[in-house]
Amino acid sequence: MREIGHFIGGKQVKGKSGRTADVYQPMTGEVIAKVALASKQEVREAVENAKAAQPAWAATNPQRRARVMFKFLELIAKETDSLAELLAREHGKTIPDAKGDIQRGVEVIEFSCGIPHLMKGEFTESAGTNIDLYSMRQPLGVVAGITPFNFPAMIPMWKFGPAIACGNAFILKPSERDPGVPMRLAELMIEAGLPAGILNVVNGDKEAVDAILDDPDIKAVGFVGSTPIAEYVYTRGTAHGKRVQCFGGAKNHMIVMPDADMDQAVDALVGAGYGAAGERCMAISVAVPVGKKTADTLVEKLIPRVESLKIGPSTSNDADYGPLITKQHLEKVKGYVDLGVKEGAKLKVDGRNFKMQGYENGFYMGGCLFDEVTPNMRIYKEEIFGPVLSVVRARDYSEAVDLPSKHEFGNGVSIFTKDGDAARDFASKVEVGMVGINFAIPVPLAYHTFGGWKRSGFGDLNQHGPDSIRFYTRTKTVTARWPSGTKAGADFSIPTMK
Ligand code: NAD
Repeated sequence: MREIGHFIGGKQVKGKSGRTADVYQPMTGEVIAKVALASKQEVREAVENAKAAQPAWAATNPQRRARVMFKFLELIAKETDSLAELLAREHGKTIPDAKGDIQRGVEVIEFSCGIPHLMKGEFTESAGTNIDLYSMRQPLGVVAGITPFNFPAMIPMWKFGPAIACGNAFILKPSERDPGVPMRLAELMIEAGLPAGILNVVNGDKEAVDAILDDPDIKAVGFVGSTPIAEYVYTRGTAHGKRVQCFGGAKNHMIVMPDADMDQAVDALVGAGYGAAGERCMAISVAVPVGKKTADTLVEKLIPRVESLKIGPSTSNDADYGPLITKQHLEKVKGYVDLGVKEGAKLKVDGRNFKMQGYENGFYMGGCLFDEVTPNMRIYKEEIFGPVLSVVRARDYSEAVDLPSKHEFGNGVSIFTKDGDAARDFASKVEVGMVGINFAIPVPLAYHTFGGWKRSGFGDLNQHGPDSIRFYTRTKTVTARWPSGTKAGADFSIPTMK
């Protein structure tokens, strides 16, 4: 059985805590590895390595730091196929989708290659007589990232790419459910020329997370995962005086206006609703057709598409989606479908009894489609994170804008319409962090920022893009007077530049 330890001080090390967790291959249901769960002492060991290595890395000029990122891009490009295969085996998503997971991470590394430009400060000559004023961005020191199971390549790269480019040392605590890819990414960073100790991976569960949150040498923590844990990490981390940003769960709506191209809307809904088995924080889980006629047409067109979704093992190249992450999660998602039926929603397509031939122990589930879901139902209020789409019928446009705006989550939202005026009004008014117009999964590109509102995001800076540089650096401002401009005599009033 493959054993996965930690990556500390530039190399793989065995776990010492005596505690491990099973890593499953969701397409067959087998346990394929054991991952070590770090103790507080092991986290501390990683922090000490990081702390010792960080000053020299911060003093390495930004062009040289960027060169490591460029080299990493070359190495990852050579290894995309094998990384995607490993990712698909541990996570369950299909190979093409696993390649997308890697690619969206790579794009943030590409962004981080611009660090010499991104970290430039500001300068004002002659802010007063013979006085120059300048500000500079400096790294924080040792920082950490805690990441979820659903993007085991992309989200670790979103976190460590900008942080390391800024001159910090990084402690990554990836999901214990699919740790293989993050461990390989750390090895590739070392092969690319990153000094030992600058990127460490500690595998683990709550014990490792708490050790990170309580460690006085860790200055900032970036978290992505479910909302209850996001809130916990934010509260505990900030109580220790750390800079913390936490991105949580979602319930993303797609509004379908009466003038929308219905075929495009249906294509978008099946792709964004069921892709990756619905295990994406930007998956569409609620369709909101406006008006009865739109709703009837939409549901009628959706039913055969959901019934004919192609579900397959992760290694299949033509499956629409693969298995869910664990048996426990599969049971939870099925439980939500049972609940929806009890709550009175109309289950138009029932995928609960789907069995994958030849893979009977895998964690598969067929697509489910609910109609006539109402905002008081738990299947509407809570994140399901599976292949389940709920149709909530809105009487008019204003009711459609209100639904996502009043929902406790505010990650992504989308509107399908040909009316530019309605689209513009929607983008301006809706209380959600990321908006798509005729675009179902509006994940911003690497050079913009990503972040949800309300209980989908805690903290005030987004991830990647310019906010990531702000998050992983602090600004120092220097006021310098040159001796030739200094008048004799003490001045006891507050300095002004009059
Ligand atoms: P999770 O909250 O279970 O786990 C996230 C991380 O927290 C993991 O590293 C895990 O080990 C750790 N963790 C779990 N329980 C903990 C506890 N009790 N105390 C301390 N740490 C704990 O999330 P998940 O199931 O891995 O990922 C799915 C969730 O992530 C979904 O809710 C999804 O919407 C969300 N997500 C959000 C975004 C976003 O950007 N908003 C992106 C991807 C995923």
